[in-house]
Amino acid sequence: MGKSQKEDIVTKTPDNAKGMDISQKKQIVIKGFGGSPGICIGKAYIVDREGVDLIKRYPVPEEDVATEINRFKNAVKRATDEHASIIESLNSDLSHQLDILEAHLALFKDKMLYGKTIETIKTEKINAEWALKKVLRQVKRMFMKVNDPYLKSRVTDIVQVSEQVMRHLTGAQDIKISDINKRVILVAHDLSPADTSQIQLELIKGFVTDRGGKDSHTGIIAKALGIPAVMGLGNATHKVENDDILIVDGSTGTLIVNPEEDTLFSYEEQSVRYEAQRAIRARESHLPAVTLDGHKFQLMANIEMVEEVVSVRDNAAKGVGLFRTEFLYIDLKRFPSEEELFDKYKEVVDLLSPMPITFRTLDINGDKVLPYMKNIEEENPALGLRAVRFCLKRPEIFITQIKAILRASAFGEIKLLIPMISCVEEIIQVKEIIASAIIELKQEDKIFNSDIPLGIMIEVPSAVIIAEDLAEYVDFFSIGTNDLIQYSMAIDRRNRQVAHLYNPMSPAVIRMVKMVVDAAKKKNIDVVMCGEMAGEPFNLPVLMGLGLTQLSMNPMAIPVIGQMVRRLDVGETKQFVKKIIHMGIVSDIVNLVKEEYGKILAD
Ligand code: PEP
Ligand code: MG
Repeated sequence: MGKSQKEDIVTKTPDNAKGMDISQKKQIVIKGFGGSPGICIGKAYIVDREGVDLIKRYPVPEEDVATEINRFKNAVKRATDEHASIIESLNSDLSHQLDILEAHLALFKDKMLYGKTIETIKTEKINAEWALKKVLRQVKRMFMKVNDPYLKSRVTDIVQVSEQVMRHLTGAQDIKISDINKRVILVAHDLSPADTSQIQLELIKGFVTDRGGKDSHTGIIAKALGIPAVMGLGNATHKVENDDILIVDGSTGTLIVNPEEDTLFSYEEQSVRYEAQRAIRARESHLPAVTLDGHKFQLMANIEMVEEVVSVRDNAAKGVGLFRTEFLYIDLKRFPSEEELFDKYKEVVDLLSPMPITFRTLDINGDKVLPYMKNIEEENPALGLRAVRFCLKRPEIFITQIKAILRASAFGEIKLLIPMISCVEEIIQVKEIIASAIIELKQEDKIFNSDIPLGIMIEVPSAVIIAEDLAEYVDFFSIGTNDLIQYSMAIDRRNRQVAHLYNPMSPAVIRMVKMVVDAAKKKNIDVVMCGEMAGEPFNLPVLMGLGLTQLSMNPMAIPVIGQMVRRLDVGETKQFVKKIIHMGIVSDIVNLVKEEYGKILAD
């Protein structure tokens, strides 16, 4: 950049940073993983695990101690009332959940938590939030020493209950993020899908989390909303203070805390450029996704919330290739009824018709825990009672959802997708449940479509190996690379320590995708890819060369993938795949992609 240009810029305030004082604190640069591309500049808002607000300690004068204790007691009362109303709203057939919630009800007045907190406020003359936080820390420490796994697991219940009280104490229930009159960057140790469903996402400029690797669910949500995110930062929440100025560069996975003036201006410029490119792509997104040699691609959207239908349309998706249904369950704070599910699904169908929509059945547990169901104690939740395994164990919940989807199918082109199938027996059982759902709907005289395409997610290595057998039972496969990479490479998708091994260009991943595509073609069924791998331009030449033509991705990724499809040639990518399919080292494959397609990618 020329000198005069730079001087010119220095005299202006960057738009993103307007109203912010350039900090006197030292600039810190922290590297993590890019969870969602884009750049944002804003003030930090720290989400502490023990409450939505950062908990501060302050002394309470002797004469105010009684009032402070009352404040605590009132918070407990409000939390207890709220909890009791959740119990009341639960269906009585969910007796297991009721037991747990009722056990939690007793914990609100537990001596260890309630009595100790009051005592701490009294003796130490400190605010209730800090006293509760301190007591909770002691309880956690005490439980850690216990050998009994049952008792140890009770600590989760205590933490949950105390979080409910803390929210009432800090007023976080009422003072939602929407009440902050400026848009902020959320800094958290971790954000579960349950957390993200609680926050007013339109007020969030960016996400920064300590935990999380590539393709963790927080990243997926951030991408869907076009919010830059950096994850896997280790201990960012300790280095950042509330109201610090942050730059989040989700494209390179960089977080800059209290940037110097020059850094701020340079990022402001990059951000303007990035947004300009995004706008160009959005304008071109309505052009058909056809390759240079005339092959048509179907680019679809992955969504999880009804609100995202706008993004589906704006980015000119040719359908919804994956509707993750678990978020409705998370939002409702209890298992929904068939009628509630049907209403929601029909709403999506009505809004998007005549686009095809693939509803995936409930994929909970693993890292998507329902807040009202934390009772399943598992050493390895990702390998546990997740997705279809949970649904087959709780057929009453599964059949309720299937009936709702079948009923919504009467109003549009719907497909049914089952997650985490790992053997033929599971799909046989699923089909039996679908058959029962059909019988029930007929008996109830409901309008529905009994003949919708049935597909399975291929996201477990065993399913790849027996893909041809599984193909006998279904109409399509949907390759879920987020989990396929996790399970085949044995890397927890939320664990930053092993995120460096998480690479869609791994020879094992590429070869597994090939096996699935080949099996689908041999058995004459459809194959889609709906994992995040499908939405990364870098991977497109390989996916195209492997024979995929249906890709479902974050809606925001559709314009750039479409642009790239129009610049590639299927015949040529097939030759390219022949070169890489036997290569054994990731970096060799990556370098070859860069060598052959670097120019297109750079554009
Ligand atoms: C996947 O595993 O690739 C997938 C699309 O599903 P989810 O990310 O919801 O597990
Ligand atoms: Mg998955």
